[in-house]
Amino acid sequence: MKFSLDLLSINLMGNFFIELFVELDMQLVILGSGQDAGVPQIGCYCENCVKSREDKAFRRLGPSIALMDSKKKFCYIFDASPDLKEQVDTINKIAQKESLAKSIPIDGIFLTHTHFGHIAGLWSLGKECINIKKMIIHCTHKMKQFLDSYHPFKHMIEQENITPVPFEIGTKQHYNEFSVSSFEVPHRNEYVDTVGFIIHAKKTVVYLPDLDYWTEEILAIIEEADIALIDATFYTKDEIPRMANVPHPPMIETMERLKNTTTEIYFTHFNHTNKTLDETSKERKETLEKGFKLAYDGLIIEI
Ligand SMILES: [Zn+2]
Ligand SMILES: [Zn+2]
Ligand SMILES: [Zn+2]
Repeated sequence: MKFSLDLLSINLMGNFFIELFVELDMQLVILGSGQDAGVPQIGCYCENCVKSREDKAFRRLGPSIALMDSKKKFCYIFDASPDLKEQVDTINKIAQKESLAKSIPIDGIFLTHTHFGHIAGLWSLGKECINIKKMIIHCTHKMKQFLDSYHPFKHMIEQENITPVPFEIGTKQHYNEFSVSSFEVPHRNEYVDTVGFIIHAKKTVVYLPDLDYWTEEILAIIEEADIALIDATFYTKDEIPRMANVPHPPMIETMERLKNTTTEIYFTHFNHTNKTLDETSKERKETLEKGFKLAYDGLIIEI
């Protein structure tokens, strides 16, 4: 019989932590595999956008993932996309008939950075909407300063809708039956810093939806993980005219850099221009032949 046990941390001789993970059944749910604006993008009638309007299966909501346990006792999300309302429905659907089936089944929200597609969903927890009480926001100190300073987040903190709880980048925090650590990521950082997350459960998972370019340190973090969900904004360099303003490593470069990896790689955070969105494209075929996976909304990954 499977059973779950809280993470045990045994401090031996004051020097060593031994972490025991016992039959933990957790799931990652891709709530949104689109770039900040999702697919279709507003006012765009490119082939990918038209197709995704005609058939919901090709739609991609804003970037977010959920970490839930199989008994649905807890659920944390990473990033609060503009589509949070719909993404809560996805969580509730999965949690159907389980104890988590409550109106907002989220125990905490981890934020990677301030680009609006990653924080806009917080608004829907405020007074104009569900008026939630004290949703814990796990974020960096700089992100907390940002939320404390600017409307509407400042107001939501004053109203006790959200409560930012900062973490130290690089340190491991324990939550329920898993731990999370973070690492710094080069990514424009117009307002605050950007982080990627490492989820430590039975498997180790990296969540890295946005970065400007690869560094050896970040590639090493991905190599050490069992699973990585990484930036698939663009397939090629020069995919949009203003690429210089919105740098992301193109998928073809990422696949070259990670061609010998043993980590299970899922691409996510797709821009509407990404050629792999077209099921019949040679780019999609080549990506899959190289052993990389393409995330989609509703995908559940057992970890
Ligand atoms: Zn983004
Ligand atoms: Zn489009
Ligand atoms: Zn970003």
